[in-house]
Amino acid sequence: MTTTGLILYDLLKGTHVRRTMRFLEESQTWTREALEKLQEEKLGRLVERVREEVPYYRVQGAGYRVQESGIRNPASGIITGIPSFPVIDRQDVMEAGERLLSDRINLKKCKISRTGGTTGPPLRLYRDTETRSWALAAYYRFYEWMGIAPGMPEAELWGTTEIGNLSAEPGNQKLTQNSTLKTQNFIRHPVSGIRDRFNNFRSYNAFSFNESYLSAITRDMQRFRPKLIRGYLSAILLLADHIKRNNIKGIRPLAVSCTAETLFPEYRKLIEEVFQAPLFDQYGCGECNSIAFECSEHNGMHITMEHCILETDENNHFIVTNLDNFSQPFIRYRNGDTGIIDHSPCACGNNSPRIVQLHGRASENVILKDGSSVNGIFFANLLDQDGFINSDGMLRFQVVQDRAGEISFRAEVKPDTGNRGMKDTDIRKLEDCLMPFFNKVEITQHEFLDPGPGGKFRYIISKLPCSPQPGI
Ligand SMILES: [Zn+2]
Repeated sequence: MTTTGLILYDLLKGTHVRRTMRFLEESQTWTREALEKLQEEKLGRLVERVREEVPYYRVQGAGYRVQESGIRNPASGIITGIPSFPVIDRQDVMEAGERLLSDRINLKKCKISRTGGTTGPPLRLYRDTETRSWALAAYYRFYEWMGIAPGMPEAELWGTTEIGNLSAEPGNQKLTQNSTLKTQNFIRHPVSGIRDRFNNFRSYNAFSFNESYLSAITRDMQRFRPKLIRGYLSAILLLADHIKRNNIKGIRPLAVSCTAETLFPEYRKLIEEVFQAPLFDQYGCGECNSIAFECSEHNGMHITMEHCILETDENNHFIVTNLDNFSQPFIRYRNGDTGIIDHSPCACGNNSPRIVQLHGRASENVILKDGSSVNGIFFANLLDQDGFINSDGMLRFQVVQDRAGEISFRAEVKPDTGNRGMKDTDIRKLEDCLMPFFNKVEITQHEFLDPGPGGKFRYIISKLPCSPQPGI
């Protein structure tokens, strides 16, 4: 976004993104102790407010004081966690409903959205101007880390239902000389159209990429010359693969940024090789945006300590506290993701800990025949060992499990492989690679694997009634 765009955004939305960006500019050089001190202050303020204003916590958190029972950093004595506060999950939030909203909520100033839908009923989220200011400011600080200056041309590969409907009609996927989907929508959405042009921004539909649509996107990008390409990992992956296969030149961003899906090392390699630019991962969830961002050292994602507290439990489940949403507080919220946090120092100078492994959701795990549970990385490693990932025959895969110890393996075959499919020998090899771990493996081939709701591609779809904890 341009600087003028940000000034206008703050004015129109009542946010304070620019002021917060200046703060974060400073705080990224703070010591760990100073960052923890800030967390303690913000946590204290949040807890006091919710005890008074939020019906759910008037009961649950009765008598609670941060000072009495916080987790203290052994070195500094500063409180950085809140064990006496109950851990809540999606189910609790569903059940609490409006009791989790502040009495003082100003609905006009809240952005109301829904999250999820793939792993359960959607939640209604209320993000007030405070949390949006911090999340956006942290996000734009990340742009600096990527070397992207305000106003540089930026392309997004995302998905919306509306555009998804367009893709149902093949004729609509042919982009004309100067049009992108955003431009097609310009007449229907003049405000966002003007905003995007003003901000040097293009958005492409990640919902249903096919060859002609990908060709149109690449032609448009050759003219638009985005310095940043960002979006869903699997969408970027499809674009990178298309560019490589067709030897397309002239798309040279300074950085690529992906989100929302587990990033396998092989995919990072392909994307960086094709775009000749570093890839930056990021992490957040609907309940707390902007949780962590990858720095220029590329050894994990730094947790935005100024905005949230991220704890892990004994099963490596993330427990997140959004320090800035007073309207619908998420305190010690288990968001369903798992991962590993590393507290060792990073050469970039930022003193916050880093998420070094992100294992995704429990519902994205698969049960092997011996009863152990694995996530997508297990398959990525297994297939990589046998040369399947990013091979001539297969691009992406999807594992669907209805019953423990059994899977359906969906292989996405590359469109330009001679007979449009994997050879029999490849399928047998794939079976040999998977069968030691399962009682039954069914392999099917698809020209295109559909992303799930919202355009987010899922490598693992578990339909088991109760998803277990990840074991690997
Ligand atoms: Zn770093």
